[in-house]
Amino acid sequence: MTIDSAYLTDFLVGLLQTPSPTGDTAQGIAFIKSALDTLSIPSHLTRKGALVATLPGQSQTAPRGVTAHVDTLGAMVKDIRPNGRLTLSQLGGYAWNAIEGENATVSTHERGTVRGTVQLINASTHVHGAAVGEAKRDASSLEVRLDARTVNAEQTIALGIGVGDFVSLDPRVETVNGFIKSRHLDDKAGVACVVAAAKALQDAPLAPAQTTILHFSNYEEVGHGAASGFPPDLCELLTVDMAAIGQGQTSDEYHCTLCVKDSGGPYSVDFNNRLRRLAKDNALELKTDIYPSYSSDGEALWRAGTDVQVALIGPGVDASHGYERTHTDSLVDTARLIGYYLLAG
Ligand SMILES: [Zn+2]
Repeated sequence: MTIDSAYLTDFLVGLLQTPSPTGDTAQGIAFIKSALDTLSIPSHLTRKGALVATLPGQSQTAPRGVTAHVDTLGAMVKDIRPNGRLTLSQLGGYAWNAIEGENATVSTHERGTVRGTVQLINASTHVHGAAVGEAKRDASSLEVRLDARTVNAEQTIALGIGVGDFVSLDPRVETVNGFIKSRHLDDKAGVACVVAAAKALQDAPLAPAQTTILHFSNYEEVGHGAASGFPPDLCELLTVDMAAIGQGQTSDEYHCTLCVKDSGGPYSVDFNNRLRRLAKDNALELKTDIYPSYSSDGEALWRAGTDVQVALIGPGVDASHGYERTHTDSLVDTARLIGYYLLAG
């Protein structure tokens, strides 16, 4: 089994450039479906809008799941201000300053698009002086300045914009020296690792040890992505989501990390130990961490009342929920571990 790192990177860059904020993920899901179609892996949409594919296994006695989420941080139009600019309501949790100055696209409910920029109100240093640096960044102090001639709410409404329209932040994808810099590596990097692992098995060709459901969830950032979409006899779920890098963490941008505990408590110790053994047997350096402020789609399935073992692995992502960065080495290691897991009896 060999991971095609060029394919992995190309797929990831394409997916990053496809907007899919939580709640408006159809384009991202279609991008993944198209890649699976090309790999001759049939898939279907759930009623909730997730994408599910089943890889027939050598055995069907203990079906497995592998999940990664395509939905990303973003925003919705909360209201239109008297000056014609937009107030945002966050999709997912992030610091407001992480989006200041970012270009964005408003997708209107009439299927049009309007470009704009997230700006501080009173943004001009030459008018407002030191207050520009001192102002607290929050929902009221930031607004979307639209790239259209509007100075009042009526003119903005005439552009087709309304409350609830989705706002996608530009990802600003850049690849340099093996690094991939972009917003939304959480969790499009994880999606790319899962698809690259599936491709490696198809290329070989090899069948998974157990029938395995590949699940691409579309509501993780709001806490219930993988709560549904699996068969009732599912035995375990491998969640693939980014590893959080920071002070005190062992995670880095060059390796895969096993998360043993996060805000939702410990993951399944037996499952963790099998993954550790798989990594060791295949000379793959697996980092181990606890993420202090984190929850995952594996927990979403647990909280939905499903009786399964759950583990969480993922590539190391720097500056999570900001302008993120990872390295191809981390992606390839994660895809390899997913592949070894699929093949492990
Ligand atoms: Zn995530």
